[in-house]
Amino acid sequence: MTKETKIFYVSGKLESAPLDEAAKILAQGGTVAFPTETVYGLGADALDEKAVMQIFEAKGRPADNPLIVHVASREDCKPLVLDIPEKASLLMDRFWPGPLTIIMERTDIVPDVTTGGLDTVAIRFPENQIAIELIKRSGKTLAAPSANLSGKPSPTSSGHVIADLSGRIDAVVDGGDATIGLESTVIDVTSEIPAILRPGKISREELEECVGGVKIAYDDKVHPESETVRSPGMKYTHYSPRAGVILVEGEHSAVVKRIKELLEDLNMRDAKTGLMLTDESENDFSGIESFSIGSKNKPEQAAKYLFFGLRDLDLRNVDIIIVDGSFDSRGIGAAVFNRLRKAADMIIKVQ
Ligand code: AMP
Ligand code: MG
Repeated sequence: MTKETKIFYVSGKLESAPLDEAAKILAQGGTVAFPTETVYGLGADALDEKAVMQIFEAKGRPADNPLIVHVASREDCKPLVLDIPEKASLLMDRFWPGPLTIIMERTDIVPDVTTGGLDTVAIRFPENQIAIELIKRSGKTLAAPSANLSGKPSPTSSGHVIADLSGRIDAVVDGGDATIGLESTVIDVTSEIPAILRPGKISREELEECVGGVKIAYDDKVHPESETVRSPGMKYTHYSPRAGVILVEGEHSAVVKRIKELLEDLNMRDAKTGLMLTDESENDFSGIESFSIGSKNKPEQAAKYLFFGLRDLDLRNVDIIIVDGSFDSRGIGAAVFNRLRKAADMIIKVQ
């Protein structure tokens, strides 16, 4: 598979010419990566089986892992779903456009390849203006998983997309860095008790409040590959850089102490180590490859720089990445820990 991957630059001014060219590629069944507020997505016409198959091929994504369909209005959902349940409607009122994906029962026009053969479809109306314009101008709804090679950290910049997918997709719309940095919250509203299938910026508390105080289920287990799970994506390796990842979770000073012990041990074994630190722990380590994901009290910074940091350290050819997991796990912090635990080869909890 060698394609010539075009790059289109689009700024906040929403230049028409590059948007129209990119939209035309999508309308003709091609694959185009584009920015959203969460991460970069790899889009193709959600209702065109052949176009969607190219997404799976470009990413090396397992065929049973369904895609999120991106729309540019609530109207766009109507042909895709049997009905919009009351709870979904409340969630759309409050969180759309935005980083919330809602799973509903699908109609027959959505091909099996898009939903991994499920009778439900996942839909999101993104907030990023470039994404909205591109969807509108293509005249389609766009299946768009994260625009990375399957299993790698999600892309938060066009550079990440190009590093993974250049030559494998038709185009990239470069519209600057993703502002949130973590994928959307995914909620399933097809059963009596709604369930969060993937945590994100929009928290369980916000969702529960929105649907009138109804309890929402959430299972944050890391599932082994053989298990049957409600969201197929849960069972696959995720967010893994080339280097091995050790996550050290706990209170700041205990984490720093344990990282120092690990470093001594790894040095003796001649392993090249990189550290993913917080602003608070950065001064405790010098002369070692490191990347700070921001203040431990600001999990939104960790969200924004987590995937960026994993990729950055990987480029420095380290064998092991040790992550300072002492930052706030409330709000979006819970979603950051969810991604980190999936990325980690080893998790150490300290007091
Ligand atoms: P990505 O496209 O990489 O952002 O991942 C999308 C996530 O949404 C994956 O974890 C999928 O398994 C999940 N997903 C998409 N569609 C469905 C669906 N119909 N039912 C359950 N989970 C879904
Ligand atoms: Mg993904």
